[in-house]
Amino acid sequence: MKAIKSYAAQSADKPLAPYQLDRREPLADDVEIKILYCGVCHSDIHTARNEWGGTMYPIVPGHEIVGTVTRVGEKVTRFQVGDTVGVGCFVDSCGHCYNCKDDQEQYCENGHSQTYNSLLQDKKTITYGGYSSHIVVTEKFVLSISDKLPLEKVAPLLCAGITTYSPLKYWNVKAGDKLAVVGLGGLGHMAVKLASSMGAEVTVLSRSHSKQKDATSLGAHHFEITTDKDTMHKLANNFDFIIDTVSAKHDYNDYLPLLRTNGVMIVVGVPPEPSTVQAFHLIGGRRSLVGSLVGGIKETQEMLDYCAEHGITSDVEMISIDQVNEAYERTLAGDVHYRFVIDMATLT
Ligand code: NAP
Ligand code: ZN
Repeated sequence: MKAIKSYAAQSADKPLAPYQLDRREPLADDVEIKILYCGVCHSDIHTARNEWGGTMYPIVPGHEIVGTVTRVGEKVTRFQVGDTVGVGCFVDSCGHCYNCKDDQEQYCENGHSQTYNSLLQDKKTITYGGYSSHIVVTEKFVLSISDKLPLEKVAPLLCAGITTYSPLKYWNVKAGDKLAVVGLGGLGHMAVKLASSMGAEVTVLSRSHSKQKDATSLGAHHFEITTDKDTMHKLANNFDFIIDTVSAKHDYNDYLPLLRTNGVMIVVGVPPEPSTVQAFHLIGGRRSLVGSLVGGIKETQEMLDYCAEHGITSDVEMISIDQVNEAYERTLAGDVHYRFVIDMATLT
């Protein structure tokens, strides 16, 4: 065991604070990573505050990790000391179920091990995330990161990037498709960049005009306000796809009518409260309401390579680790442009 520095929440109503964490020594298949940057995902906030239930305290959040390899186990073949690598939302899975064999570890039928607030495959050891100086991860769940792009801007690709890339690929979003992104935050701004890079005609649906200029520079073709009834009426039967990234309670019934016949509304945001859906919005127009969870390791590597090739990164605001609680408040207030990333060198 190695004692390392981290930031943890001790309970739902306590701010994150310094915490000494024990990491395992690298096993034969393990890669030890010194963390350089870690993004702040809204899931970190939901979990630290136990909004979804099931948080095991103390919790060390963080699943948008970029760092440098410091040690490798003797069986590791793909990485060596000094390599730049990434770790996303999960760190292991059973490896033998239908979905794991199909490179869909995120849907592991036996329960994948998330990067934090989860159990390793021994079903006993609790995982702790990237708001820490180092992490030890089995080689299969470590991603290669290109040195071409600024690393702090790459970190959010490990969650916000893959969570939006995966459904775009699965539903084959392509040139000419009309796609709306609901909510311009961390996931939303990556959805705009990725969908527009794939040729879709992208509309941002936001609550106010405040992000309109940014939406255009991110690559959106249109910007509309969801709080305006006339606008929502005007947009009826308009989109082939809607990607809903909203983190708080909202009504899916407000958005479903904006889909054309056969349109697909892809839910990636996870409000803590359950929703009701009016069946008429689905049957009238054969519309689909679907969900998507991050993406598998193979697809995450594909996404990272795609972003390196196309020069796509996240728009970030760098913070020091002691600003993380303030960053949570600003994220909750919608004041994020468009991802906070922690410079882990500030964890001293
Ligand atoms: P974020 O940066 O806070 O962005 C969420 C956006 O939703 C906000 O910027 C805001 O956009 C909009 N919004 C917030 N409250 C709203 C409300 N009450 N009504 C309407 N719109 C509202 O969060 P994020 O990191 O992108 O994460 C978004 C959600 O996705 C979270 O629930 C997170 O847990 C979830 N998530 C899911 C996956 C997955 O695998 N499916 C992966 C990662 C995260 P505007 O200001 O433009 O309205
Ligand atoms: Zn995330």
